[in-house]
Amino acid sequence: MQTFRFAGARLPAEAEAARADVRAFLAKDREIGGWEPHRTTWTSFDAAFSARAGAAGFIATGFPEAYGGKGAPMLVRFAIAEEMLAAGAPCGAHWVAERQSGPQILRHGSARAKAEILPRIAAGDCFFGIGMSEPGSGSDLAAVRTRAVRDGDGWRINGAKIWTSNAHRAHYLIALVRTGDAGASRHAGLTQFVIDLSAPGVTTRPIHDLAGNHEFNEVFFDDFFVPDDMRVGGEGDGWSMVTAELAFERAGPDRYLSDIRLLVSLIDEIGAEPDRMEAAEIGRMTAHLAALRRMSASVSSMLDEGASPVTQAALVKDVGTGFERMVPETARRIRRTEPGPDAPGDYAQSLAETVLRAPSFTLRGGTQEILRGMIARGLGLR
Ligand SMILES: Cc1cc2nc3c(=O)[nH]c(=O)nc-3n(C[C@H](O)[C@H](O)[C@H](O)COP(=O)(O)OP(=O)(O)OC[C@H]3O[C@@H](n4cnc5c(N)ncnc54)[C@H](O)[C@@H]3O)c2cc1C
Repeated sequence: MQTFRFAGARLPAEAEAARADVRAFLAKDREIGGWEPHRTTWTSFDAAFSARAGAAGFIATGFPEAYGGKGAPMLVRFAIAEEMLAAGAPCGAHWVAERQSGPQILRHGSARAKAEILPRIAAGDCFFGIGMSEPGSGSDLAAVRTRAVRDGDGWRINGAKIWTSNAHRAHYLIALVRTGDAGASRHAGLTQFVIDLSAPGVTTRPIHDLAGNHEFNEVFFDDFFVPDDMRVGGEGDGWSMVTAELAFERAGPDRYLSDIRLLVSLIDEIGAEPDRMEAAEIGRMTAHLAALRRMSASVSSMLDEGASPVTQAALVKDVGTGFERMVPETARRIRRTEPGPDAPGDYAQSLAETVLRAPSFTLRGGTQEILRGMIARGLGLR
């Protein structure tokens, strides 16, 4: 059996300095923006908040200065992300662009894509969606059927994507499409492109989720033209591109802090004198969080070193989102309440919202079954 490690990662002084700065920013911004801590943190879309966070220098700190960043290590972003999530800041508008699309473009995009897009991401006024899933191709990404064919100095794309979060309000998405034969491995002949969602030939249609919200979409390409300099990576390199992108997507603090506001609200509700079971469960969840945090910081430091810790990222997401699913269940068990969107008190409302959202935590970004298959492969077990 192969093994893999999570090397210990100590947050550098500049990460702790950024933590203090972003805390102060968030406290002040709550007054300016008039927002209450959101229960959905990184899926709460607020373009004005993102613009203020960008202007204050808290987005894409890892980009080089030439592209609007500070050339800071990933662990600085890690500390900022933790604080945004803990505060319930409405950081969903810029989240995907900062977490994965920007870093992909920085590593593998054309000079034009970098110059035009990265400074806008850092400024908090350029938002991205993820164009991976298709009808009939969710877990099995290699089965994508959206196809691009060469046309002059670009490509024509036809097909459809599904479950595309925020496509109706994002500026771009990075889409995985088929440009050649799949080959025996089925991983050949795929390519990623940056899609301008305001260009002709692309339309979006809403899908409403279990909670009644419109976050998902279907996205249709009808002879959509994308210039070749909006390709990410080489022609046919899509599988390795998408794998690297998922390493960025899967292991950050957003994979174990999605329902942190419910946990905070539960602790407030219980108060200073928990009974034995309440104390034991809060202790258990806190211990889980501490372990997950160390694993996630370790992945961030590996990404900093230019590695692609795909297996470790899959493990953080599997365990982290499993934890996120457990929080509302534990809350229901130890503190009985009637949850409801209009129920009295923050705890009952938080519980209602989280119960509706929790099923998605272990689906988005890859299901637990798929992640466990990847982990088994990483261990040489399959
Ligand atoms: C809130 C949310 C936001 C999302 N946002 C986006 C987005 O922005 N962009 C995007 O591209 N996608 C997005 N998705 C889609 C998400 O990535 C897919 O739902 C996910 O990958 C699963 O694909 P599927 O829904 O097609 O299910 P399927 O692939 O049909 O899987 C159905 C079930 O079968 C299991 N299964 C499938 N294959 C195997 C296997 N080989 N071995 C064992 N079990 C298997 C799965 O684990 C799952 O339980 C989002 C999903 C959610 C819930």
